[in-house]
Amino acid sequence: MHHGSSLLLDLDGVIVESVQRTVEGSRIVQIATAPEWVGMCPQCGQKSTRSKGWVTTRPRDVQVGPDRPLLVWRKRKWLCTNTSCDRKVFTESTPGVPSRARVTPRAKALLVEAVLDGDRSVSAVAGDYGCAWHTVHGHLVVVADAALGDEPEPVVVLGIDETRRGKAKWETCPETGERRWVDRWDTGLVDLTGDQGLLAQVNGRTSAVVIDWFDARDETWKAQITHVAIDMSTVYAKAVREALPHAQLVVDRFHLVKKANEMVDTVRRRVTQAERGRRGRKSDVEWINRRRLLRAAERLTDEQRSTLFEKLTSADPHGDIAAAWIAKELLRDVLRCTDRGGLRHEIRDRLYRFYTFCAACRVPEIGKLATTVSAWQEPMILAITTGLSNARSEGYNRIVKHVGRIAFGFRTPENQRRRVRWACTRRSRRVASSRRQCHC
Ligand SMILES: [Zn+2]
Repeated sequence: MHHGSSLLLDLDGVIVESVQRTVEGSRIVQIATAPEWVGMCPQCGQKSTRSKGWVTTRPRDVQVGPDRPLLVWRKRKWLCTNTSCDRKVFTESTPGVPSRARVTPRAKALLVEAVLDGDRSVSAVAGDYGCAWHTVHGHLVVVADAALGDEPEPVVVLGIDETRRGKAKWETCPETGERRWVDRWDTGLVDLTGDQGLLAQVNGRTSAVVIDWFDARDETWKAQITHVAIDMSTVYAKAVREALPHAQLVVDRFHLVKKANEMVDTVRRRVTQAERGRRGRKSDVEWINRRRLLRAAERLTDEQRSTLFEKLTSADPHGDIAAAWIAKELLRDVLRCTDRGGLRHEIRDRLYRFYTFCAACRVPEIGKLATTVSAWQEPMILAITTGLSNARSEGYNRIVKHVGRIAFGFRTPENQRRRVRWACTRRSRRVASSRRQCHC
């Protein structure tokens, strides 16, 4: 046949000999090795003249037109005549269909793209295409690992956060047959101000696993980190102090608010129990106002605020709930200094008001909150003055969960980490590749 049909298939190194349609309607394309690749040894590149006969392979390729044509490639086996080459026998191969390739490289690239950027599972894509899981997965590993690189680029602000891996559940131990409660957690390390996304995900949430990860990095990389943002986790704080003694700890402001809200909830539950001798019900005043108690004060009107306190006085004779609520608001006032750039004297004044109020009201839960805040005071002040937060880590946690759902859970953590890192760095990779294109 003529050159045009080869161009239509456009598979490097092969020519189209004929195209037939089967009774079922699919197309069969008979291909042959392009003259420049006939007899060429893939090892030494020399052309052989000693043919050992013919073989037929059926490499899978991409869709051309409405369907995916079946390729039938009749090619020769050869003996390499180059005496200095250690390859004895070979079959012809071309850039479009390398040796032993059951799937063409361009088809593999499409499959990998469908998985990585089409957010699908390896098994779903392999199933659609009718090829083995390993074919898709193997190529995915090559593509992803080459793009992601082994070592992270310099990071200035690092975020450390925990994520639950899968649902906590009862499992039977394969060795002992014992039932045990399994609750797996991972630790994510995130580039908070750069564009590298999730740098790594390590199994577990102990100081040791975090320290181990830092130990594997070189000293100059570690020295570049100036701040580390964490939740109020003593475990991560310990790891950072040990592995990155020069870096400053920043505690996430939103977690402080969360802690304060939890405290208000605890007080409300205790007061209800004491006053009514039972658990709270939806009809109780303090229950009705639960949402309002937690809602930010500035979002309530003056009238709403005074009604709230009036109603609560009857349900809260010692004023514990009201006090808890005020303490929470005073802490939020401290954190709100972030909006004005974190003026030192403003922070100091508001902190003083918070502590003196907490000390005066003698409610155990409020006292406990004050103690917690004081233990985290320096990292909290740093969060206010720098405006840094761990919000981006939380965004990546959502990606981690999303990727987990796509794959219906991963058999090996390694595969999960790769997919998650790919998803988290997708945007920055796109920017980088479009930049590259602009320059050339
Ligand atoms: Zn050779």
